[in-house]
Amino acid sequence: MKAYIMIDSPLTKAVEPVLPDYLDPAKRTAMGKQNDLSYERKRLQLQVDLDKHTLPEALKLLQEQQMDIGYICDDLKQVRYFQCYGPGDVFFIGQYNPRRADRGKGAGRSVPPPGVATKTTPLTKCFLCADNVRWQSRGIQLYYQFKVGENTYNILCNPFPFMPTHMTIAAVEHEPQSWQEMTAWKGDKVTRLVQDLYDIALHLPGFVGFYNGVGAGASIEEHFHYQFFKIPSGHGLFPLQQIAGAVEARAKSAAMLADENISTLMIDARDYPLTSFRFRGERSKMIGDVVERLRKWNTMSGDTASANITAIWEGSSLVMYLIPRNRFYSRSPGMSGTVGGLEVLGEFIFCTEEENKLINTQVVDYRYMETILRGVKPPNVERLNVK
Ligand SMILES: [Zn+2]
Repeated sequence: MKAYIMIDSPLTKAVEPVLPDYLDPAKRTAMGKQNDLSYERKRLQLQVDLDKHTLPEALKLLQEQQMDIGYICDDLKQVRYFQCYGPGDVFFIGQYNPRRADRGKGAGRSVPPPGVATKTTPLTKCFLCADNVRWQSRGIQLYYQFKVGENTYNILCNPFPFMPTHMTIAAVEHEPQSWQEMTAWKGDKVTRLVQDLYDIALHLPGFVGFYNGVGAGASIEEHFHYQFFKIPSGHGLFPLQQIAGAVEARAKSAAMLADENISTLMIDARDYPLTSFRFRGERSKMIGDVVERLRKWNTMSGDTASANITAIWEGSSLVMYLIPRNRFYSRSPGMSGTVGGLEVLGEFIFCTEEENKLINTQVVDYRYMETILRGVKPPNVERLNVK
C-alpha cells in the first residue's frame, strides 16, 4: 500500500519511494521497476517542495514545473477573447483557442509497458488514476496530493488548458463521477461532492471550481474529479454572476429586503437561458441547500439527472451555483465541444477553423450563444422552483 502524503502533515525529510502494487510483479521487468521507482522519487521530492507552500502557491509552482518539463502543451498565447452584447447590459464571453482542438489527440501514450497494471487501477486507459499517469505521460506528468476532510485528491495539470493554472483535482480512488449508483440516489456521495468542492474552493480565492456531471461536460465519467482554474486578472464577473446580481437587486427592491441576503436565488428562463440557482451563506447550511436542491432534481428526473456545480468567490464570500442538466443533452448545434461548467456560466470555447470563420463574420453573436445554452436546457427544469 502506497503511503499518501497530506497537505496538513508536510514532510520534513525525503521519503524512500515504494513500488506500485502490481497486479503481477513477475511481469514487470527489473528496468521497468527501476523506472517506476525513479519516477516516484521525483514525484515525492516535488511533493515535499510544494508542501512548504500554501495551496494557491503550490498550484502555481506545479503549473510552472509542468510547463517547463513540456507536459502542458498550450501556453494560451493564441487565445482570443471577445464579448457579445445582447439587449441592455447582458453579454456572453467567447474565446477562440485553436490549440484546444488538439485535445482529442491526447497528451500521452495508450499502450502500457509490460506488467504495469496495478491492483488499484482497473482501467489502464483512465488518465486520472495515479498509477497510469506515470507511464501514459512517459514520466513527465507529476501531481500534487492533498487531503480534504477524509478524502485524498491528486492535483494534475491539464495538458490542454482553457484558462491559466487549469487543474483537474481527482479522487485518489477510481470511482465514478456520477452521484447515482445504477439509478439509485447515493446521498453520501452527493454530500461529499458538494462539500469537498466547497472546501477546496475555500482555499483558492481567485479561482473557479467546477463539478461537471455525467453528460454535462465531464471529460471522464469513470473517475471522480473537479476542474479548477484561476480567473485571469481583468476578466470580471461571468455573465451568469452578472445576471444573478440583477435578479437579486430586483427581488430585493420588490420585497423591500435591502439589508437581507437571499440564501437561495433562482434565475429562471425570463433572465437566463438555463434555469440556475445561486447559494450563499454559512458553510453547512449552504452545502445542505445545494444537496437538497439536487435531491429534488434527482427525484424529478431519475437517471437523466445531471448538473454543473460551481464554487466561486464573490467579494469576501464563497458562493455556489447549481445548474441542473439532463445527461442526454450534452452538446448543442453551433459548438463543436460539449457544454460544460464554463459555458453554463456564459463563457464559450470555440476551437475549430469553421468556428473561427463564424466568429470573424459575426455569425457568432449574443443570440448564437444563447441558442447554444437553450440547446441543453432540461425539458422539465421549470418545475424545480424555489419553493
Ligand atoms: Zn481512474
